[in-house]
Amino acid sequence: MSELHKFLFDGLPVRGAIVRLTDAWQEILRRRASNSEHGAYPAEVQALLGEITAAAALMQANIKFDGALVLQIFGDGPLKLVVSEMQPDFSFRSTATVVGEVAAGLSLSGMVNRTSQGRCAITLDPKAKFPGQQPYQGVVPLFDDAGQPLERISEVLEHYMLQSEQLDTTLVLAADGNVAAGLLIQRLPMAGAGNLAGSMVSRDNEDQIGLNEHYNRIAILARSLKAEELLQLDVDTVLHRLFWEEPLTRFEPLIGPSAPRFACSCSRERVAKMIVSLGREEAQSILSEREDIEVGCEFCGVQYRFDAVDAAQLFTDAAQLLQGNAGPH
Ligand SMILES: [Zn+2]
Repeated sequence: MSELHKFLFDGLPVRGAIVRLTDAWQEILRRRASNSEHGAYPAEVQALLGEITAAAALMQANIKFDGALVLQIFGDGPLKLVVSEMQPDFSFRSTATVVGEVAAGLSLSGMVNRTSQGRCAITLDPKAKFPGQQPYQGVVPLFDDAGQPLERISEVLEHYMLQSEQLDTTLVLAADGNVAAGLLIQRLPMAGAGNLAGSMVSRDNEDQIGLNEHYNRIAILARSLKAEELLQLDVDTVLHRLFWEEPLTRFEPLIGPSAPRFACSCSRERVAKMIVSLGREEAQSILSEREDIEVGCEFCGVQYRFDAVDAAQLFTDAAQLLQGNAGPH
């Protein structure tokens, strides 16, 4: 079963989290594999999607924010989009859009940064928005400060956290066909908790970047964790192997009903709105060529179908709604 654990290093300005997604991750892969249009992900795409999903869980666990955290890669290679959306209750959905051939062993650059146009976006979408409020979004290229391409999504996210949030962060991520897992170690900011959402970073904090000996020691231990260990060992064994000399305070883990789990927020109503936004003419032109307007959800694989009668009803309802709204408020 999937699980997420948070912990603090006693007396030190360092915190951590570890996540193992098993049933929820397998559910995403199963739905994809049963989709007759796409079929299963190539192994390299599966690994990247699993890593980004584990990272989204770890980052959501470490911010005080009531809304969805969305990690996206906009690729310029055979992989056009990779996205994971993690809700504050750790229900999540993830998908990838493959538009070309992904050869075995293809690097991250080869998949998503072929012409150096690949981008990684981190979005915080608050649950309750005031009118006109836009989600907070940070976008970074897939290069380090020296202009070298980053070949691990963990490096991209570490770089982002350092540059945009002034947070020393260590991420170890791994995924296969059964497990998507990750370990995050972060130096606690001196001031301005919840930097990702708001950002009040003191000068003191910036001066501490890379210099805290406790964080550096723990980060080195964390980096010694191998992908196979992260995928195969249980959480207690991983934490004991890495940090047996460091006193930890563990928090109540998210397991059982509160564990990270797959859930899709798509609905027939949302698809209907999308069809209305296409316009009556476009809808009719689709229906002149086929029996139904068919829209498949990229995340969960559900197919929504609207025939000519459904579509006519949609546009009648929409017109009535517009007329209703035109009067004085
Ligand atoms: Zn869906």
